[in-house]
Amino acid sequence: MKAFAVLAHPERESFNGALFDVAADVFSGGGHEFVSSDLYRMQFDPVSDRRNFTSVKDPQYFKQQIEELHASENSTFRSDIAEEMEKLFWCDLLILQFPLWWFSMPAIMKGWVDRVFAMGRVYGSGKWYDQGVFSGKRAVLSLTTGGGSGSYAEDGLHGDLSQILYPINHGILRFVGFDVLPPFVAWSPVRISPEQRQDYLDSYRRFLTGIDKVEPIAYPALAEFDETFRRKSLV
Ligand SMILES: Cc1cc2nc3c(=O)[nH]c(=O)nc-3n(C[C@H](O)[C@H](O)[C@H](O)COP(=O)(O)OP(=O)(O)OC[C@H]3O[C@@H](n4cnc5c(N)ncnc54)[C@H](O)[C@@H]3O)c2cc1C
Repeated sequence: MKAFAVLAHPERESFNGALFDVAADVFSGGGHEFVSSDLYRMQFDPVSDRRNFTSVKDPQYFKQQIEELHASENSTFRSDIAEEMEKLFWCDLLILQFPLWWFSMPAIMKGWVDRVFAMGRVYGSGKWYDQGVFSGKRAVLSLTTGGGSGSYAEDGLHGDLSQILYPINHGILRFVGFDVLPPFVAWSPVRISPEQRQDYLDSYRRFLTGIDKVEPIAYPALAEFDETFRRKSLV
């Protein structure tokens, strides 16, 4: 398997860093291949604007998706974006490793998505969801939380984690075609014992080792929607 892991944590010695190291170890041998993007250490620029491109179609008025289409046709994405795109197209498995920040991914990772998941190259012209550019590839979130598992249960204070992650799992990863696997969650690593943290690292290793057998989250197919994109069976 060709695995691509993206890490978004400002501290390399963090528990997120330790989980990232497990992924690197699992996929760096045994017939697998591994590439990564450690966004903070790369000092990845998360700000999306006309600097995404080495030349622009309209210097007067910036319209990102128009410029993305133009750059897709003319190979004029800035090199930091083009390099990340290459890794996405190369991999069979994308792993996003991050701490839950404000019920989402850290801004540096959202900026990576904003800049790298470009119209023309990564989606567009009817290429989305199960017809998406990355159809046949797998993606998984590996995240840590501050709150405990109970607080993210359906009846928990914060609400169901699967709904909190829906904008990432469905709105980003499934949108561009990935089969999205259920997330690996290390609940509240700050508040547990060293032994419990080691248990998480061990169970993450087992999870990744068997990842080819994990069933993706079931999302409806495009064919299940009518021409106004409403579910045929429900209208
Ligand atoms: C801006 C911001 C917003 C946030 N929003 C939310 C939110 O919306 N919801 C929520 O639930 N939480 C939230 N949090 C909390 C955050 O999710 C947690 O603090 C984070 O997930 C903990 O993971 P970490 O990698 O930072 O842990 P760390 O603090 O880095 O690590 C935890 C412990 O693991 C130890 N450790 C590191 N490596 C190893 C190893 N190899 N083996 C064993 N132990 C190791 C560390 O030494 C440390 O003691 C937020 C935090 C911030 C800063």
